[in-house]
Amino acid sequence: MKRDERRDSVADEQVPIERLEEVFGLVANELRIEILLELWEQYPDPITFADLHSEIGIRDSGRFNYHLNVLHPSFVRKTDDGYRLTHAGREAIGVAVSGSFTEADTLDLGPVPAGCCMFCSGDLAARYDEGQVVVTCTECEELIAKLPISPVSVSTVEPDRMPEVFSNHLLTMTHELSVGFCKRCHGHVDARLTALTDDEPAAYRDALDVRFTCQQCGDRTNLNVGGVVMNHPAVTSFLFDAGIDLRETYVWEVLPLLDPEETLVDGEEPRLHLRIELDGDVLELTLDDSVTVVDYERA
Ligand SMILES: [Zn+2]
Ligand SMILES: [Zn+2]
Repeated sequence: MKRDERRDSVADEQVPIERLEEVFGLVANELRIEILLELWEQYPDPITFADLHSEIGIRDSGRFNYHLNVLHPSFVRKTDDGYRLTHAGREAIGVAVSGSFTEADTLDLGPVPAGCCMFCSGDLAARYDEGQVVVTCTECEELIAKLPISPVSVSTVEPDRMPEVFSNHLLTMTHELSVGFCKRCHGHVDARLTALTDDEPAAYRDALDVRFTCQQCGDRTNLNVGGVVMNHPAVTSFLFDAGIDLRETYVWEVLPLLDPEETLVDGEEPRLHLRIELDGDVLELTLDDSVTVVDYERA
């Protein structure tokens, strides 16, 4: 079974297509989006039917009432004091705002300088194309990083800050995943070392590949194990002591973290040992098969 087919089959089990159509159908209307945006402006205060109606400024109250009712109860809650957005309603605002950047698929930014290549020390360049940031080496042509990112994230800053935004986006995403949150639906993800499963590895070194699978929506993400442990206090402090502040360094430049010496011990209690060396200092990490740091030591 191909990767995409597997993804579809997981997603189908978890989120029936009819339910998706129903949810998208609810907000696929200009007037309903206007109602959501008005409620968002008032949030967390409720707004009465009369005030909401006059703010929207539509004469036909039957039509207004109809569309407001469609949004209830999924996106809009009715209280004694008036109408207010539900959690899903507030989430829909984010989608409406990022969706309003409709040039998403045609937005083409860069190339801009993106630091130094971890393979050849050549210059890296980042560009935004077809909804993805791609970082490649201008000399050895190696692909360093490639990931979809919302156009709103890159189009709202100066183009030369795109690599910085992308690096922080990677940090945020790896942090979210490493503490168990799905980046898409905020459900719970499971982490597994692909080297200990039948999953196809995606990383350039199989033993370092971690697969996250969302138990709710079926979303799958593969990350380098170095990225996954990046937020562990033992790692953050080790890097910081070596003068590396991850908030101010492009994550793809921290080669010792992304390309450590590894030993995989497969057994009843499988373990991955990582040895990260930086300027003569060494940090050793032991991870279990769910990619939790179970032991660490500075040598
Ligand atoms: Zn290179
Ligand atoms: Zn999910």
